[in-house]
Amino acid sequence: MKNNLKSHSIISMRDTMSNIGIEPYRGDQIFKWIWQKNAKDFSVMTDISKELRKSLSSKFTISALNIDKIVQAKDGSKKFLLDTEDNKKIEAVFIPEGKRKTVCVSTQIGCPLHCKFCATGLMDFKRNLKAYEIVDEIRIIQENIDSKITNIVFMGMGEPLLNIKEVMDAIKITCSPIGLSISQRHTIISTVGLTQGIHTLLLSPLKVKLAISLNFPDEEMRKEMMPITQKNPLKEILKIAKEYSLKKNMVTFEYVIIDKLNDRIKDARRLLKLLKGIPSKINLIPYNTYPSLPFKRPSDKKIKKFHQYLLNSYHTITLRKSRGQEILAGCGQLAALHPLKSGDDVS
Ligand code: SAH
Repeated sequence: MKNNLKSHSIISMRDTMSNIGIEPYRGDQIFKWIWQKNAKDFSVMTDISKELRKSLSSKFTISALNIDKIVQAKDGSKKFLLDTEDNKKIEAVFIPEGKRKTVCVSTQIGCPLHCKFCATGLMDFKRNLKAYEIVDEIRIIQENIDSKITNIVFMGMGEPLLNIKEVMDAIKITCSPIGLSISQRHTIISTVGLTQGIHTLLLSPLKVKLAISLNFPDEEMRKEMMPITQKNPLKEILKIAKEYSLKKNMVTFEYVIIDKLNDRIKDARRLLKLLKGIPSKINLIPYNTYPSLPFKRPSDKKIKKFHQYLLNSYHTITLRKSRGQEILAGCGQLAALHPLKSGDDVS
């Protein structure tokens, strides 16, 4: 079987070239062609001799995700439904907001965590994505929009910290000046709060930001709604979050506000009590409904009241604007099985 050149880091690309008697700098050239110039085969690599290109194509391939559909929302968000080479579907979303051009990427096909309120949890878990598939989600979006992507959020399908090696390898490509050159400071990994994975990130040289989906300050409710957290007590999550904030970047706690579940002032008070002494931001996310899930978004009045209460704390509080909801491209709406009826199909 031919070796897939997209599966290499810069270092291993250089080594691979060197191993077959080609100058290592050719590895950098190819890396750029693949990730910056969207090369799908060797024929376009005009700064490499024809003879060498022929030899490379006899030994290597360049894999690519395929676009199945692009659906655009009125607010400019675009949902990309993509096919992997083994014919599985994944989703990635482009979210433009002024100068900030964010992509929300998937790290797994389906999700093994099955949080009760999240549409991805309805899917079977199929497999982890490879680093090159994760980066290809971003590359393909970049190829299909007019502006430069500035931010990455690992908040699509899946739990990034259950696929941490591939996610870390992907970031090495996205932040590289000869890769996608997207700053690590503009890259956020969102996790349900897996302490072991957070520890790995803490010890790594990466400088990415961390978001923890806290969602339910009541631990019993949290365990019920997010079953994986039975093995990850809040106390331990908060301890390591504090360490991350002090040693790396300030952590963001995400709080998906759901009607009648966690939308009372009592819950806001509890949240602030938990986060006392942890330098952190809070991102309030109004719940996005999904056709087959019973949960609802609280009224605007209730969300406003909850938000106002939090604003009196020393944390930085943001209220997430809902984006791409009518095309089911919002947080927790990615399930790769919906027929994508609404919105304009622009593919
Ligand atoms: N597994 C990771 C990343 C994927 S979910 C995590 O849990 O953080 C990304 C964010 O979407 C999480 O904060 C999650 O709590 C939130 N989310 C899930 N379903 C949602 C929904 N229906 N509406 C709004 N946010 C949702």
